Amino acid sequence: MNKKMLLTSLNPQILLMALKDEQVGKYLHQSTHRFPDGIGVVKVSKWTNGNIQERVAGIEVMMELIRFAEKNSKSIFLYGASPNVVEKAVLNLKRQHPELKVAGYIDGYTTKSDKEIIRNINDSQADIIFVALGSPKQEKWLLKYYSQLDSTVFQNVGGSFDVISG
Ligand code: UDP
Repeated sequence: MNKKMLLTSLNPQILLMALKDEQVGKYLHQSTHRFPDGIGVVKVSKWTNGNIQERVAGIEVMMELIRFAEKNSKSIFLYGASPNVVEKAVLNLKRQHPELKVAGYIDGYTTKSDKEIIRNINDSQADIIFVALGSPKQEKWLLKYYSQLDSTVFQNVGGSFDVISG
């Protein structure tokens, strides 16, 4: 089996949450890929002689993954946001990326249990999962369940579905 990739944005908001909330801290530590999503993180790195050069927004990483998925026949699953938003986001992604395989989507206010959500995602055989439940809900959900999901790539994407839905 491929090694799982857990991707996360590091912004000042999530870093402050991690100081107070053990689960969020654990999520950040377990992440396999962390990118500086906020000019504050870039500035602190410069002040402390770190090597972060520029901001990498979570939505840019998500769109790069979408382009990769379209090109390499990998499928995606969207979990989160209101029913209207996630549906529109899927429609827009399919319009912009005609070859993209959307394995499925579930809104973030569903009455389905986590067990059902996990079964739906696994049944869809999606390769890449984007979770948009807001912070810290999405980080806690991913931390709790990513090991039970058969997918390879996971990303917490905050308000990205809202942006994509236009
Ligand atoms: N969201 C959700 N379920 C919830 C809470 C939030 O699906 O229980 C969605 C919300 O509709 C939005 C996204 O999570 O699409 C990001 O929410 P918000 O902007 O509040 O979070 P932040 O970007 O500040 O982390």
